Amino acid sequence: MNKPKIGWIGLGNMGNPMVKNLLKANYEVTVYNRTKDKEHELINLGATSASSPQELIEKCDTVFTMLSNDEAVKEVFENQTGLLAKTENGKLIINMSTISPQTTKYLAEIANKHNIKFLDAPVSGSVKPAQDGTLLILVGGSSENYERAKPLFDILGKSSLLLGETGAGSSAKLAINYFLGLNIQGLAETVLFAEKNGVSRKDMLTIINKSACGNGITEIKTPSILFDQYPAAFALKHLHKDLNLAKNEGLDSPLFQPLFESFQHAKDNGLGEEDVMAIIKIL
Ligand code: NAP
Repeated sequence: MNKPKIGWIGLGNMGNPMVKNLLKANYEVTVYNRTKDKEHELINLGATSASSPQELIEKCDTVFTMLSNDEAVKEVFENQTGLLAKTENGKLIINMSTISPQTTKYLAEIANKHNIKFLDAPVSGSVKPAQDGTLLILVGGSSENYERAKPLFDILGKSSLLLGETGAGSSAKLAINYFLGLNIQGLAETVLFAEKNGVSRKDMLTIINKSACGNGITEIKTPSILFDQYPAAFALKHLHKDLNLAKNEGLDSPLFQPLFESFQHAKDNGLGEEDVMAIIKIL
C-alpha cells in the first residue's frame, strides 16, 4: 500500500522533532506553522510548506495538529483558510495537542460534518521522547481510524493505546499531567527542604534518582535543577493550562488545589515561558 501523504501543523518544541522522525521514515510531509521561520529547518530536511491549513489538507491524506491550546486548535480548524474550509472526503485529522475533552468532541463533530475522520491522540513524554520516537500516545476514536494511524504512531511513539471513544485520549492526558504536576512540585519541594537542612542539591538529586522514588521525570529534570537553568522543554504555561483543563473536568482532590495555586502563582510571576521545573524558583 502507498504511504499516506502527511500534513503537520504546529512546529513548536514537540512538532519539530516529531516531523523529523516522519521524514527519517521516508514519509512525504507538508508543514504549516503560523511563524514561518520555524518551517525552514524542516524544509531543508525535505518537507514542503503550505501557505495555509486549507492548502495543506488539500495536498495530504493524514493531517496532524500539535498546537498550544484549545483556542489555537479551533482557529486552525475553523478560520477562513482553516482545515475545514472545504469538504475533504475520507481524510483523517489527528490532534496531538493537549486540549479539553469537550473541545475534542466538538472538533470531531465538525470534522465529521465535512466528511473528515478524527482521532484525539495527545502524548505523554516531552522533547527527548519526541526526538527519540518514544512518546506514549493516548488515543480516542474508532478502532478503524486507529488502525489507519497505527503505522504513524509506531514511528512517533514507543506505544499507542486506544482508550475509548473520542475524548478518551484527552481525558487520560489530563490525568497523567496531574501526576506530572505532583512529581514536579514534589521534586522541587524535596530538594529545597533538603538544601535548607544542609544537604546539597547534587547529593539530594543523587539520593532521589537512586531511590525507589526516582523516575523518568526526576532524572530528566536533574540537570536543570543543578545548573539552575530552565529553558522550556515543556513550558510552565502549558502545564498550568492542563491543570486548569483538569479543574474544569472536575478534578478537586486534596492535593489539586494547592498544586494549581502554585502553578498559577508561578505563571503570574512571569515564569510561563520557562520550563515546568522553574516552579522551584517561586517555592
Ligand atoms: P510550543 O513549543 O509552545 O508550540 C506551540 C505551537 O502552536 C507553535 O507551532 C505555535 O505557532 C502554535 N500556535 C499557537 N497558537 C496558535 C494559533 N492561534 N494559530 C496557529 N498556531 C498556533 O508547544 P509544544 O511544547 O510543542 O506543545 C504543543 C502541545 O503539546 C501543547 O498542547 C502541549 O501542552 C502539548 N505537550 C507538550 C509537551 C512538551 O513537553 N513540550 C509534552 C506533551 C504534550 P508559533 O510558532 O507561530 O507560535
